[in-house]
Amino acid sequence: MGMTSFFEIQCWLRKLYRRGTRFQQYVKVLADTHDLDSAGLRVYQEKLLHKMVRHCNKNVPYYRDLFRELKIRPDDIRTLQDLSKLPLIDKKTVQGNLDRFISRRHYNFLCNVGSTSGSTGTPGKFIRDFDAINFEHAVVWRQWQNAGDSGKKRISLRGDIIVPSSQNEPPFWRYNPANRELQMSSYHLSLDNSIHYIRKIQDFQPKILYCGPSMGHVLAKFFRHHGVNYRFDAVFTSSESLEPEIRDYIEAVFQTRIYDWYGQAERVAAIGQCQHHQYHIQEDYSIVELLPNRGDGTYELVGSQLHNYVMPLLRYRTQDFIYLKGDPAEFTRCACGSYFRKVEKILGRSYGYLLTPEGYHIAITAHIPVGVDNVIETQFYQEKQGEVVLKVLTNGSFSEVDRERLVLNTLKHTSPHMKVLVQEVSEIERGPNGKFINIVSNIKNSLN
Ligand SMILES: [Zn+2]
Repeated sequence: MGMTSFFEIQCWLRKLYRRGTRFQQYVKVLADTHDLDSAGLRVYQEKLLHKMVRHCNKNVPYYRDLFRELKIRPDDIRTLQDLSKLPLIDKKTVQGNLDRFISRRHYNFLCNVGSTSGSTGTPGKFIRDFDAINFEHAVVWRQWQNAGDSGKKRISLRGDIIVPSSQNEPPFWRYNPANRELQMSSYHLSLDNSIHYIRKIQDFQPKILYCGPSMGHVLAKFFRHHGVNYRFDAVFTSSESLEPEIRDYIEAVFQTRIYDWYGQAERVAAIGQCQHHQYHIQEDYSIVELLPNRGDGTYELVGSQLHNYVMPLLRYRTQDFIYLKGDPAEFTRCACGSYFRKVEKILGRSYGYLLTPEGYHIAITAHIPVGVDNVIETQFYQEKQGEVVLKVLTNGSFSEVDRERLVLNTLKHTSPHMKVLVQEVSEIERGPNGKFINIVSNIKNSLN
């Protein structure tokens, strides 16, 4: 059996696993819960919460002991307000008690172990069961369908290597027939190889681009560089924060719309963009509490799972922050039909922040080099609060004027008191799987 056919069998098996009968059932349920008003959502959430709490009390050692210690009976936690009787937990709580968060009644063979990025801090381990995985795929599928994607041909550029890194001739991709998806390597997407990618895309004629914002940006730049026009019906982005400038650029080059998605390895909260451009907290995915963050107008997302019975997390602090549109308790109807709360902006993961001398988190840096000449790539590197090293890969003609403009832009978009050092480098190191990382921070999270 050749490599390709083995890969294809894997694709079909994976699809069967992720999109089985449970998936189809969830798709139906989620079509209804999408349009529930706040009272309806509350009923839905509280029913699932109570069921989950009873399961935790019975089968999950961490919660069983916690409830005993706090003298809480499962019936004491029925409403959303009751949830506050439980303490907040975070990555440290979970990773320090990993075995005790796992249900005694789970079946290993159907579980999936995910891990959080280890770029800073400790990598975490999170386990989901078959049901939770199907549920997750159904929630994402709802966004795709609402955006007009009913299983169209797509390419994915998700920061994966796909083919051996030593390979220097195309193909830099492989076809997943189960998803009608051409998976393209992010690692090999360079200026030299870019024309091969473009020709392949023209030949394959995908309608959908599924990518991280930074890789989508790189691909769009190459299309523009080669003067090639191409139109996608929709672009789906996730995994990194999407800056307005990057969004505008990708949408302009590919004459399309971006539907952004936010999630995390812990799977305690999800935010998706609807067909009316609005970011919505997916209220039927989990229970999301919003923790005000030191008066800077942001809220930390705190999530309680309703569907993952193998390793349930209740009141889990994501250390991800958002700006809300309107009041935290405001559920008003969007043109898409949903009453889900509206999010103005999602800030990046905590390792994607710059910390200003004033203690503000700056996640938006992609537009800082805009308008500065002779810059190919930049990376913001922070060791100490209030100081930043700007690593710059230049084309060799980077001048003193360019340097000054870059410093001024940084001060303007972070803080006038930021100490900025521009450092020319011959290469910007990629993260795991060749992924481009805009901000590298070695500052311990200020919330811990
Ligand atoms: Zn909407």
